[in-house]
Amino acid sequence: MQNEIKKQIEKGELLPLMEEFYTIQGEGFYKGTAAYFVRIGGCDVGCHWCDVKESWNADLHPPTKIETIANNASKYSKTVVVTGGEPLTWNMDPLTSLFKKKGMQVHIETSGAYQLTGKWNWICLSPKKIKLPLKEIYNEANELKVIINSKSDLKFAEDQSAKVTKDCILYMQPEWSKRKKVIPLIVDYVMKNPKWKVSLQTHKYLNIP
Ligand code: SF4
Repeated sequence: MQNEIKKQIEKGELLPLMEEFYTIQGEGFYKGTAAYFVRIGGCDVGCHWCDVKESWNADLHPPTKIETIANNASKYSKTVVVTGGEPLTWNMDPLTSLFKKKGMQVHIETSGAYQLTGKWNWICLSPKKIKLPLKEIYNEANELKVIINSKSDLKFAEDQSAKVTKDCILYMQPEWSKRKKVIPLIVDYVMKNPKWKVSLQTHKYLNIP
């Protein structure tokens, strides 16, 4: 039985579902837009400031049929955001094709550290210094969202922006716990380098998930 579950997870037919909820996208290009969020467990990138550390251990989250996930999402919204954790830990092909069959717009938030699977309408690439994205995803990213935790991240952001396409929208977003310190740095940087935009975690200001 355990082996059977493992096999289905490997195929992407079951996914360790941490939580799912209908809310307002707080960040990036679709900020302010209602969407159904599907948070998949499992991530070994290991950002020290991660605000969803409970997601890291996939074993803590129930293997859930992708049909259940897709049915739940489609009851609430035409737009679904797949996040984590790191969703690309898993094969996203089966889940995204179910969403597509239901006519949904399918977005992902990823560090890009693993092979890109799935068919997406919008890819938010949020690269992490400690486990850099694989090359292939830079060409596919619709938005690049770099989390700014300290001054050195400005340079990291600039290096990452050289790898995406010219149509990719560039965001700098303050790491929540350091926001007081880094917001002035970001504001100053974006005014001097207007190819960048500021992204804020507005859902946290709105006090919604
Ligand atoms: S990639 Fe995302 S989920 Fe994984 S540790 Fe970093 S912030 Fe947390």
